[in-house]
Amino acid sequence: MAVKETRAPEPTAEEISAEAERLYGKGLADLGWRDPELERAARLTWKINRLKTARSAVIAAHVYQRAEIILGVADFVGDSYKLAKMCAESDAKRVVFCGVRFMAETAKVLNPEKEVLLPAPEAGCSLSESITAAQVRALKLKHPGAPVVTYINTSVEVKAESDVVVTSANAPKILRRLYVRHPKIVFIPDAMMGKNLAYELGKKLGEELVIWDGSCIVHDHFDSTSVEFYRKMYPGVKILAHFECTPGLVSVADFIGGTGDMMQWVADHKAPSYMLITECGLGDLARTRFPGKVFVPMCRLCPYMKATDLSRVLRALERPTASQRIEVPAAVRERARRPIKRMFELADDTCAS
Ligand code: SF4
Repeated sequence: MAVKETRAPEPTAEEISAEAERLYGKGLADLGWRDPELERAARLTWKINRLKTARSAVIAAHVYQRAEIILGVADFVGDSYKLAKMCAESDAKRVVFCGVRFMAETAKVLNPEKEVLLPAPEAGCSLSESITAAQVRALKLKHPGAPVVTYINTSVEVKAESDVVVTSANAPKILRRLYVRHPKIVFIPDAMMGKNLAYELGKKLGEELVIWDGSCIVHDHFDSTSVEFYRKMYPGVKILAHFECTPGLVSVADFIGGTGDMMQWVADHKAPSYMLITECGLGDLARTRFPGKVFVPMCRLCPYMKATDLSRVLRALERPTASQRIEVPAAVRERARRPIKRMFELADDTCAS
């Protein structure tokens, strides 16, 4: 099929200057951006924002994305669960998903009629790549009757083999509900999160909760011993750790949860300073959302998340390549949709089971 090309016009010098001013006001200056970088980004954000309307597109950006994407062009910002739901509620014909492949696939499963574009098609995820559909089938044979609960950070093929999908925000609640009827649950693929869940729910690892040995390259290296040092250096600092961090780190944190929960916790509390132990993008976003609060850096960059930049977003809007277009075969899509829908039901407070 021929790819339709829609080029954005070139902005004038005045338009670039006005757009740079807008980016400045959005908080990029708080992150250390100066005029030359603002103007370079402004030329691209100006074009992207014009093309969005022409192409009936929305831009969904994960909180770990680059600040210029989140603040300059995104229509929706959030975790993968929130983004997929927001895309489903939008009237736009296409979604440019600034995130990694499994997120764009989830958006496609929930929005089959929309064109879903992933600007950085090679953006994978170490966690998602740690397990295959064939390995899930083997787990099911080994643990018959045990529901397979799958973290949302997995491929669409793995989701298609699963019983329920969960996010870091709703996993404890959903597992608690499933344990009412099931003595054993298989949780894939994040081993750290599995261990944290077993501890939180008081379940025996390997017996009541069977886990897989997958890990996130960003969260599994944070060092719990440095927390003590930072507590002395910043008296009163509150330590917030992502659910994918090691159990050792989680045990010394003041709060654990997903990215959305961490941001809400910061909004709800008054502390002298906060440390967000996760990907660096969340700290940047927090600094722009809460300019009066102090954030102590302790983060890592995710190379997959940072593969997307403004020029690739523009390319996806102007003339998407075949690899930027997310396609999921209808049969896989339908099978993957069921455990995602089950998550929506089980995460709902009105659910009885
Ligand atoms: S931060 Fe970890 S889980 Fe998220 S995309 Fe990167 S590797 Fe995957």
